[in-house]
Amino acid sequence: MTTAVVSKSELTTQIHELARRKNAVILAHNYQWPEVQDVAHHVGDSLGLSIIAEKSDADIIVFCGVHFMAESAKVLSPNKKVLLPNLAAGCSLADSITPESLTEWKERYPGHTVVTYVNSSAEVKALSDICCTSANAVSVVRSLPTDKILFTPDRNLGRWVADQLPEKDVVIYDGCCPIHDVLRGANVEQVHRTTPDSVVIAHPECREDIIAMADMVCSTTGMLKAVEQFPDAKTYIIATENGMIHQLKKQYPDKEFVLADGCIGCRLNCPYMKAITLEDVERSLREEVFEVDVPPDVIIGARRSLERMIAVPRDN
Ligand code: SF4
Repeated sequence: MTTAVVSKSELTTQIHELARRKNAVILAHNYQWPEVQDVAHHVGDSLGLSIIAEKSDADIIVFCGVHFMAESAKVLSPNKKVLLPNLAAGCSLADSITPESLTEWKERYPGHTVVTYVNSSAEVKALSDICCTSANAVSVVRSLPTDKILFTPDRNLGRWVADQLPEKDVVIYDGCCPIHDVLRGANVEQVHRTTPDSVVIAHPECREDIIAMADMVCSTTGMLKAVEQFPDAKTYIIATENGMIHQLKKQYPDKEFVLADGCIGCRLNCPYMKAITLEDVERSLREEVFEVDVPPDVIIGARRSLERMIAVPRDN
């Protein structure tokens, strides 16, 4: 027996019909495959999407992102069913810190306020004093009435924050995102030589040498706005995960966006983000899998850390 091949447009129609029938909202992170971004009701950064989910009157949230993002959506919307379409969508940055390792660092640095990047598990968030995103990390640390900070888990984001706030004593945990950390200044210079008039926009999860040569350092949401700050430029070199190029091209079809990979074959695709396919989204809605749950006590702690952060105004 042969299995009928379903086209992308048929799959998209089926997904939208299922979502309508089940009162579901489909959210996609900027790093998802283009076709997954295009089927979603909302595309954005992890926290922005969780806030959209919280305000939505949908009964089901299908989170096309990675596990910690779906957890954040559950923390902010505990009464909604949150689905992650593929359980392989983890995150090695989030996995680099555990409740045990954070507890050990807290004991090593007593009296430090723990600021944890949202790219972390709900359990780790619950053990932290406040969360931050790549968009508001500097504002969050600046807003704290203490100089002693323990910043977790991303060392590159932590260093970027510490460089901008020399008045703070920032101890930085040793995690990193392998997709951003693999990039070197030499890679970006190589791309820049082919388009010398281009503007370099980098994510703060990139290493120091890339941050130093960037015209703008910002979150994925910030990148969509950053283009407008260089209106005369025709080409923008983007130092972040490949999926971001899709949203930039959609929003600015007359501009050119080049990935800052600088090497053939290294396309900066995060294997966790790219674990989710259109077929997974359809199955997730049809079978209502895979439900993400967070224990009630963890929800209370993680929500407190997230809400403290949300109360701090965003930089961009
Ligand atoms: S790009 Fe992938 S590995 Fe890096 S922080 Fe995001 S989900 Fe994690």
